[in-house]
Amino acid sequence: MNAFEYRAPRGLDEALAVLREHGEEARVVAGGTALVTMMRQHLVRPGCLVSLRDVQGLNRIEATNGALRLGALVTHREAEVSPLVRERLPVLAETFRRVATVRIRHMATIGGALAHADPNQDPPVTLLALGARVEIRGARGHRELPLGEFFRDYYETALEPGELVTAVTVPLLPVASGATFLKFLPRTADDYATVAVAAIVTLEPDGERCREARIALGSVGMTPLRGRVAEALLPGQRLSESLLQAAGEAVKGAVDPLSDHRGSAAYKREMTGVMVGRALSQAWEAARGAR
Ligand SMILES: Cc1cc2nc3c(=O)[nH]c(=O)nc-3n(C[C@H](O)[C@H](O)[C@H](O)COP(=O)(O)OP(=O)(O)OC[C@H]3O[C@@H](n4cnc5c(N)ncnc54)[C@H](O)[C@@H]3O)c2cc1C
Repeated sequence: MNAFEYRAPRGLDEALAVLREHGEEARVVAGGTALVTMMRQHLVRPGCLVSLRDVQGLNRIEATNGALRLGALVTHREAEVSPLVRERLPVLAETFRRVATVRIRHMATIGGALAHADPNQDPPVTLLALGARVEIRGARGHRELPLGEFFRDYYETALEPGELVTAVTVPLLPVASGATFLKFLPRTADDYATVAVAAIVTLEPDGERCREARIALGSVGMTPLRGRVAEALLPGQRLSESLLQAAGEAVKGAVDPLSDHRGSAAYKREMTGVMVGRALSQAWEAARGAR
């Protein structure tokens, strides 16, 4: 690794000031699970590392008005075991549980997972399906973006130079809703997904017909994706094998996977259809149970 200056500000304003002072030379580090690897591989060579670990106030998990707010420094493990997350959004706790190994989950942070924007990551998929919003702070103040607008391209986000992710706000599910996260990993249990799917189904008061469905997909495009064409098939419908198949077929047209050691693009596209059918079926059953 190249030599670098190391700064550990204790407050957000101080962190933003250090970033301003060092400009393009500076790089933020949170858990370091992605950045340190990239530095070792000489993919990035920051002259100054700005650690967020001592910045106060970014590590809380709070219930706010119909939502959960998770600070950028909350680790994957903290989100996985948080009683609040487990009770209010069990699908999110389950998603964090499926990330890598417990050692990685103890280090990796939510802010890091979002800013890194690797489309193979798991939490962004469920957060996208849930309609999460990202809170951002920079020299010019505070702004918020829906997650769908935050991810721009392969490892690319809407963050401007000198901006930080400070939190993510996740709405709770409407009544009569069920949610599922499925991670298909045919190799080892701690691998990145070959295909990941999060599905949410909300039922009409009759408990049979779908009112709304949301589908998000990971590892099958340049960013996490919504399966909007498949989502549009579901409102007003009852659960059936043919409906699940139609949704699975529709979603195949929305994905653009890369061929790699986790499977060919054709295989991933095919498996996306299968996993969407399974995820919708499970979310539907959970929604029936939630009434
Ligand atoms: C072996 C291994 C396996 C993994 N498997 C999986 C997996 O299966 N599924 C999965 O979802 N994840 C997995 N991960 C974790 C994931 O790939 C990232 O490493 C992790 O989410 C990054 O979080 P971090 O806090 O460590 O970020 P860091 O490494 O500290 O930073 C990552 C990037 O984000 C920037 N950054 C960090 N925090 C902020 C912030 N608050 N504001 C703005 N920019 C910020 C940094 O400058 C850097 O560019 C794995 C990691 C490893 C090492």
